[in-house]
Amino acid sequence: MINGIATAPTGPRNDNKKMGNILFIAETEEGKLKTYSKELACKAVELASQIGGEAHGVVVGKNGTAAAEELGQYGVANVTAIDGPDLEPYRGDAYAKVLWDFVQDFKPQIILATASNNGKDILPRLATKLKAGLATDCVELTIAGGKLKARRPIFSGKALIDVTFSSEAQLASARPNSFPLKAADASKKAKVNKIAATVENIGVTVKEVKQSEKGMKDLTEAEIIVAGGRALGSGENFKIIRDLAEVLGATVGASRAAVDAGYISHDHQVGQTGKTVNPKLYIACGISGAIQHLAGMRTARVIVAINKDADAPIFAKADYGLVGDLFVLLPILTQKLKALFGK
Ligand SMILES: Cc1cc2nc3c(=O)[nH]c(=O)nc-3n(C[C@H](O)[C@H](O)[C@H](O)COP(=O)(O)OP(=O)(O)OC[C@H]3O[C@@H](n4cnc5c(N)ncnc54)[C@H](O)[C@@H]3O)c2cc1C
Repeated sequence: MINGIATAPTGPRNDNKKMGNILFIAETEEGKLKTYSKELACKAVELASQIGGEAHGVVVGKNGTAAAEELGQYGVANVTAIDGPDLEPYRGDAYAKVLWDFVQDFKPQIILATASNNGKDILPRLATKLKAGLATDCVELTIAGGKLKARRPIFSGKALIDVTFSSEAQLASARPNSFPLKAADASKKAKVNKIAATVENIGVTVKEVKQSEKGMKDLTEAEIIVAGGRALGSGENFKIIRDLAEVLGATVGASRAAVDAGYISHDHQVGQTGKTVNPKLYIACGISGAIQHLAGMRTARVIVAINKDADAPIFAKADYGLVGDLFVLLPILTQKLKALFGK
């Protein structure tokens, strides 16, 4: 019993505790491995090879074994699946407790997670207990002098800073879509260690989990986002944003002005007080490009702006711009793309 956690290993534990190990925390949703966790697995394997160590994955929660096995296809040799009656639904304190127990036993040099809601919740708890440095929301992770070097945006994304660590343990969370996802190789298998954990003295009870819009990919994971701003004028008018998003297989985003006006719910908000997104393509429609909005989307690979004001600040950040009325341009664009994709 450690810190109120009783663990009963049901399989062999990893016995490779040499320095140079990287532990990455993988996440699942309804038992399915998150894409950003696959990306993180690829990065962890790459970094581990540079320090002569091993990347070890850990999946916490119900039915994590299948996800743990899937990580093997990305070159991860060892994965631990921690399951238990108190680990569903997600509760930060319960997850942090079982992970802390595991980390004390495993003693990794580097601990990585995704800068998702869960990752942002868990990693600071581990860093505090380890008295270790933590770099959050990183867009690049490399090894320099045998230690982790993390690149992360600062000043609302206006600049990037390289962070190095003076602590022995080095922790970092990575922004989704920051690392390329390598092709899965079904012939590669991970050794999956299972731990059954019981967590005691958890002060939080989850009474209900409310699903955000059904079928919508989370903004932070989306590869394409079509976002609308104040210019939309009403919730009904967001239909033209949704129509374009549907053709592109995109997720719908919004500026705070659109959210505050009640056109769309807050889980769509991109920006400083919304979500930080990192898609391959971001189409900003009727969004002026305020610094607080840019803070959430400026790392998008390609930015397209549609605005009737040719001097709107968003055009300074856009790779492609369309100057004109979105109520005219968007339906045309949607129709053209439908024809192009044969939809
Ligand atoms: C502490 C703080 C935190 C904030 N956090 C966020 C945040 O997380 N996210 C966020 O987005 N904002 C945030 N804001 C608000 C931010 O400062 C801006 O007010 C907001 O982003 C503006 O939203 P907008 O671009 O939709 O609206 P506006 O700035 O009003 O821009 C509307 C744009 O639509 C264009 N337009 C109008 N009609 C049409 C048309 N028919 N066709 C084409 N274009 C048209 C206009 O030319 C204009 O450029 C925050 C502000 C503060 C102070």
